[in-house]
Amino acid sequence: MNAIPGIPPMVTEETEPFWVGAAAGRLLVEHCPACGADSFPPRGICRRCRRRAAEFVEITGPGIVYSFTVNYQRWLPELEVPYAIVLVEFPGRPGVRIPGRVRGCAPEEVAIGMRVEVGFEPGPGGYAVPSFLARDGSTGVTR
Ligand SMILES: [Zn+2]
Repeated sequence: MNAIPGIPPMVTEETEPFWVGAAAGRLLVEHCPACGADSFPPRGICRRCRRRAAEFVEITGPGIVYSFTVNYQRWLPELEVPYAIVLVEFPGRPGVRIPGRVRGCAPEEVAIGMRVEVGFEPGPGGYAVPSFLARDGSTGVTR
């Protein structure tokens, strides 16, 4: 699988655990043990109660497409278009919406409310980036 071209992420002290998890195929988000809030992207501080004792917890699928866009612009010569970028939320995890690509269906089949599984693809700079998998039947298309 060719890596998705682009600009590598700027990894910070706060976001490094996310990228380490991504490399292992695990979707990690910040969790505040004090108030129970989950946050993404990681900031090193709880966005609800402002405590700094955040820890990381793994989120597993399925997720639900909250919003999406389809990109047709070839921003880089090696970029394959079109492709869909989805914003995914997870039941019971308010405060977390994860952007990523989506595989397993054509870009024009992506829809709000579609169920997707957590996944990753090789991205710029050797980092794994979120790439969700369309669940069978979630688009109503038989394959
Ligand atoms: Zn908190």
